[in-house]
Amino acid sequence: EASCPAPSTNTTCPYCGVGCGVTATVRDGRVEAVEGDPTHPANFGRLCVKGSALHETLGEQGRLLTPRLDGKLASWEAALAALTERLTALQATHGRETVAAYLSGQLLTEDYYVANKLFKGFLGTPHLDTNSRLCMASAVAGYKRAFGADAVPGNYEDLEEAELVVLAGSNLAWNHPVLYQRLKLAKERNPLMRVVVIDPRVTDTCEIADLYLGIQPGSDATLFNGLLAFMAERGHVDTRYLKRHTEGFLDALEAARKSAPSVAAVAAACDIDAERLETFYYWFARHLHVVTLYSQGVNQSTSGTDKCNAIINCHLVGGKLGLPGAGPFSITGQPNAMGGREVGGLANQLAAHMDYHTPGAIDRVTRFWATGSLAPCLPEAPGHKAIELFEAIERGEITVLWVMATNPAVSLPDAARVRRALAKCPLVIVSECVANTDMLAYADIVLPASGWSEKDGTVTNSERRISRQRGLLPPPGEARHDWQIICEVATRLGFGEAFGYNHPWEIFDEHARLSGFENAGVGKRLFDISALAGRGRAAYDALAPVQWPVTRAAARGTARLFEEGEFATPSGRARLVAVTPREPEQSLSARYPLRLNTGRIRDQWHTMTRTARAPRLMNHRAEPFVELHPADADKAGLVDQDLARLTAPDGEYRARVRLSNAQRRGEAFIPMHWSDQFTGAGRSGALLSGRTDPVSGQPETKHGAVSVSAL
Ligand code: SF4
Repeated sequence: EASCPAPSTNTTCPYCGVGCGVTATVRDGRVEAVEGDPTHPANFGRLCVKGSALHETLGEQGRLLTPRLDGKLASWEAALAALTERLTALQATHGRETVAAYLSGQLLTEDYYVANKLFKGFLGTPHLDTNSRLCMASAVAGYKRAFGADAVPGNYEDLEEAELVVLAGSNLAWNHPVLYQRLKLAKERNPLMRVVVIDPRVTDTCEIADLYLGIQPGSDATLFNGLLAFMAERGHVDTRYLKRHTEGFLDALEAARKSAPSVAAVAAACDIDAERLETFYYWFARHLHVVTLYSQGVNQSTSGTDKCNAIINCHLVGGKLGLPGAGPFSITGQPNAMGGREVGGLANQLAAHMDYHTPGAIDRVTRFWATGSLAPCLPEAPGHKAIELFEAIERGEITVLWVMATNPAVSLPDAARVRRALAKCPLVIVSECVANTDMLAYADIVLPASGWSEKDGTVTNSERRISRQRGLLPPPGEARHDWQIICEVATRLGFGEAFGYNHPWEIFDEHARLSGFENAGVGKRLFDISALAGRGRAAYDALAPVQWPVTRAAARGTARLFEEGEFATPSGRARLVAVTPREPEQSLSARYPLRLNTGRIRDQWHTMTRTARAPRLMNHRAEPFVELHPADADKAGLVDQDLARLTAPDGEYRARVRLSNAQRRGEAFIPMHWSDQFTGAGRSGALLSGRTDPVSGQPETKHGAVSVSAL
């Protein structure tokens, strides 16, 4: 007898910012299999190894199933009663801005929306930031400086339509594998397409590179300043575009010429071959259809924002923007880093892409959120960004911290300080779906949350595409959805009238309405998705992937921004930013002579709380490692597979040595994933300082200074 076909549901992958569509098959109360969704425009049926193992990471084992209060199992009633009582008392005693939240790009847009509304709108504190600060804050700040708005101009198709694709600080093959597959295929189909990889390490991405530039870490801004100067000198400036659509060219050019007076000088500063550099400059200058795709290698720096603007400057000077196959394109690390940005998930944002300094924004949001007798009390100035937030906690200025769906005890740099801060905070609340994350040791109140396969809502990928993540199974044990937990707490705090949602579609509907509320001007219209409001639950359930803005005039979404050359700055022109390159802040010394670089590995995700559950994902790299050039290992008396100790001023990390000629001499690479509880050997954050970019607040996790010795 033939068995019934198992019902399948289209949802999205919860890992990286590519945002692949996944078709999941559910049978007998479990997710039996996953496949790439052939209809999803991000991946057209492809999945990488992590995505294809999603169903192997599920199950109740290791899940957090019950609330905990002061280290003991508790009922929801007891946990929430204690939470509201303690939060109210602490806020009343110490002031409304002593309450904070630290969120995650793993949350869905609806979770983010209600968290932002509760903390900024009704608790009146600006201190709500997110772990997305660690991956793309510099890209956001770069876009805002250049375009007046945090808006990615292009889309994934542009990578396929380009004549030249420049990958800067991105190991696309490992970190955004499906996008890499798309690019590889496009290159096979179009032999004239060229790919340039700019990265201190020779990575798997170099397999498709026509040209590789193994630059000295931190020299990106000099390299792109040199490109700007080269284009000006060789007559590759699009004068018409510059005159009509930009401002700041002469200042940017002067700064570029100062720091990059000649190709030879740039080559020396970047420690690369001058001829290869000139080839890159020539290719970039003479092609119109150029995409520069940049990622954490650019962003995670104390001058990350400047690096982003140095890249954008070159696109503006050549008019390589707002047309198919062209544009500066930052790709996000997390699945919903962009969705969080859309609803005010960064401490410097207010809501719906509005900042505190957006004229009339505080009043506009206040009026929109006012419900019945409830009046919001929005803060008037931005809050602490991630690193500043934990510094403020350590100083005793924050008394309540609610951490949702993230593990800052492992993932933040300056790990010792973060742990001191957490231990000192009078009330730490953690919403989490995993039973044994490092954060739980610091939590007074632990709330079990739903995870992927249970959550229902929307995410936005790196190309501005909003997709549905659909619930496949009910949450296990007593776990609840994040949006439900937040709304329940809001209700207990007396804000129930403004948080009476019964389903995530109602939250999405409100978010969509706010995006179009009293809209005028390019800046606001850019983020308008109000055409998705008022359509009801059935339309939400059936929502097909769509790129914002989604308006009546663009009901099917918007593939490309700035096509008319109209930007969201006060003048309507894009700004070229004068960039003076700066060295990484943590300098090398006789005691700490090795440059440290950190990053993801192909088969793991973040702090491994999920991917470590799939045995086949552990096969790729089963344990932490330190990658060294053979000459550096030899100098330290180490050979391949030896155990080594990396030491930094505030911590150490122990792991096995992997010798690699892909590594530049004088540099070491370690993966970011492992924590003490997996190895007892330390974590990357113990070796990194908490130094941040002054504009974006993003920490410099791509650069540290360490020494290496045998263990
Ligand atoms: Fe998931 Fe990213 Fe892999 Fe796509 S490329 S399947 S979004 S991890």
